[in-house]
Amino acid sequence: MTLDLHELSLAAVDDAADALDLDPWLRELLHRPERSLAVQVPYVGDDGSIRVVPGYRIAHSTARGPAKGGTRFHPDVTGEEVAGLATLMSIKTAVMNLPLGGGKGGVSVDPKQLSEQELESLTRSYARAIAANIGPDLDVPAPDVNTSERHMDWIADEYGRITGASSPAVVTGKSLAAGGSHGRDTATAAGCRAVILASLERLGLPADARVVIQGFGNAGSHLARLLAADGLRVVAVSDSRGAVHDPAGLDVAAVAATKAATGSVADHDADTLTEDELFALDCDVLVPAALEGAVDGERAASIRARLIVEAANGPLTPAADAVLADRTVTVVPDVLASAGGVTVSCYEWQQNLRGERWPAPKVAEKLESRMAAALHDTWRVAEDRGVGLRAAAMVLGVERIVEAIERREARDEADDIAS
Ligand code: GLU
Repeated sequence: MTLDLHELSLAAVDDAADALDLDPWLRELLHRPERSLAVQVPYVGDDGSIRVVPGYRIAHSTARGPAKGGTRFHPDVTGEEVAGLATLMSIKTAVMNLPLGGGKGGVSVDPKQLSEQELESLTRSYARAIAANIGPDLDVPAPDVNTSERHMDWIADEYGRITGASSPAVVTGKSLAAGGSHGRDTATAAGCRAVILASLERLGLPADARVVIQGFGNAGSHLARLLAADGLRVVAVSDSRGAVHDPAGLDVAAVAATKAATGSVADHDADTLTEDELFALDCDVLVPAALEGAVDGERAASIRARLIVEAANGPLTPAADAVLADRTVTVVPDVLASAGGVTVSCYEWQQNLRGERWPAPKVAEKLESRMAAALHDTWRVAEDRGVGLRAAAMVLGVERIVEAIERREARDEADDIAS
């Protein structure tokens, strides 16, 4: 990955700590994860050989509730990267005001090289290796890059075998049959949509705004569909193989059908673009929904959108942020714009703990109002402090985590006096 997410998360914590004039001990506490586990993950290859890869599960903070965050399978995964992502999850859950902390996990492996059986062997082995560190009240994994509901079902099943009891609340993002929630699969897109609609209103942009979406995976493809249904014009979309453009608005369903048939949106019958041209298009809203580091300083300088909404984790480099800060471009940061997934994960966890299943409209309504509330909270901090939305979200998140740490300290002191 092109971005050092660990460095980035430390810098974000430092900036927020400066803004809040935090005591040095609190800054120290936020700099390092509460609990960090590095494991070896042996799994069986189809040729019968046993292979071993490194894995991690890191709980950055449990001050506000159990650690929460995804699990990525990627050859570039390192302990440092997972620690950085865990830190950003603590901030994300706090910005969303969820009763959760932040964590992340990962395995350094290229899952695209593995068969279904190999993936299952790997995922179950990983679950066994981290089993003592996860649990409904401790740390609750979820999907992330290259993992999905089938991986979560395997982890839940393996955890159940180890503990001898079925505890679906140990992971979220499960299939509906295994205790998943309605709306979890489209939650990132639905959360992002809510943020876009509320931001358009705040900025006085037209309801039929022109949108460019980079990335047509889980987040990007569902988002394109939702926004088109809302009457916005999705004028360009891309995937790793190319981009297509129609200034009058693409037929999103047709683009999705092409992608399903050929593997790429680039085969859709419309003008094609390079990725650089995509970012430089004349539009109102730009949504980077692919991998981190997609927009560097140079690309940022070419952007003509009025609003950028980060559906991916870390798509703008600090250099891009600096370029955009000098212009009147509003950037809704990842810790807010991509938080729909973890928000519905929280609802899934709550449903599992209470033995409930909420209907899809209830999940959708709760998600939409929580996203709008988090956007308005962040906007208020930005206006009060005269900073951008990213800095504001970091301050808001860190402030909420620190309040929880201080509450915990106060409780411990009271217990000491009482005993
Ligand atoms: N991986 C997602 C994220 O980065 C979701 C995490 C979760 O649902 O716990 O926010």
